[in-house]
Amino acid sequence: MKVPFMDLSDPSEEVRQELRTAVERVLNSGHYILGSEVSALEQEVPAYCGTRFGVAVGNGTDALVLSLYALGVGKGDEVITSPFTFFATVEAILQVGAVPVFADVDPHTFTITAKTVEARITRRTKAILPVHIFGLMADMPGLLQLAKAYRLLILEDACQAIGATWEGNGPGFYGNAATLSFFPTKNLGGCGDGGMILTQDAGLAQRLRRLRVHGSVQKYVHEEVGWNSRLDEIQAALLRVKLRKLDEWTERRRSLARRYDEGLRGLPLQVPVTPEQVRHVYHLYTIVTEPRDALKAALAKQGIETQVYYPLPMHLQPALRGLGYQPGDFPVAEHLAEHCLSLPLYPWLRTDHQDHVIESIRRFSANAES
Ligand SMILES: *Cc1c(COP(=O)(O)O)cnc(C)c1O
Repeated sequence: MKVPFMDLSDPSEEVRQELRTAVERVLNSGHYILGSEVSALEQEVPAYCGTRFGVAVGNGTDALVLSLYALGVGKGDEVITSPFTFFATVEAILQVGAVPVFADVDPHTFTITAKTVEARITRRTKAILPVHIFGLMADMPGLLQLAKAYRLLILEDACQAIGATWEGNGPGFYGNAATLSFFPTKNLGGCGDGGMILTQDAGLAQRLRRLRVHGSVQKYVHEEVGWNSRLDEIQAALLRVKLRKLDEWTERRRSLARRYDEGLRGLPLQVPVTPEQVRHVYHLYTIVTEPRDALKAALAKQGIETQVYYPLPMHLQPALRGLGYQPGDFPVAEHLAEHCLSLPLYPWLRTDHQDHVIESIRRFSANAES
């Protein structure tokens, strides 16, 4: 039995037909950049997430860069973020000339907390950049309280967390803005690159709309120096089809996650936590286990593909050596990098395949004990 880690194409003919129709609609319109499909997606995604505005851009990384820039984060400013994330989070901070400052993550939620962040605040701190890693939101009320006390901005990296909530509120509700990615592997994935910024702030949304198109509102008149970072019409049309399926797919992820929780109960490993007030959207189902690499190899022998997100924390990345961090600086992030393992999970994962994963882990665990 072969169980792939990820399967990016919905097997249902119904959805495929709708996707073909959507592409056809754009081809017939002859309008490919910043047209009616993008405008519609910019209504539909924030409506789904519960924020007022959405600004579509070229990818999730640009969403972070443009947001930081529009929020006024730049040279000399410090931004406190997680060392346990994808590189783009940190790259964006550096791209606007600011300095990433890491705060360790909670061992159960894998996110930064008000407690770990507060210890890292200095006179130069300008913003907090929590990452809603694997589909679980960071403690936003706690971080918001801290941000208010120290007059800091919050940008949420929600690239893995569309549809996630904390006390019913989605990304972009607590923070000044939140970023989404439509990279194909994300929960709402396009057939190419894409991203969006969510915000409640009309002025910020307006500025971002200008920044993504060379700082221009009126064609060939440039108010400021900006970027070329737009979502194209075909991607927007495809994403609109998939957005209509997102809740059904997310519920499927959540019920498969519960099956993993139950199937793995009692084993000496840590399964994802779900604080009562959250809706976890399980971008990834990640366990923490020892010995991780032996389990990964044993599963591979059973035809089961797993992945390590992420094997090297940000503070130990070769590109960031100049920041001066050392091994041992963030023990929780380092422990996770060595012990976490993500299991196959996608809305159309077959339950017999999932049972094979669960049984294989249980067998490995029993052998390890004897
Ligand atoms: C995917 C991702 C990004 C970047 O998104 P792209 O669309 O690939 O540029 C940023 N942060 C996190 C946490 C991500 O998972």
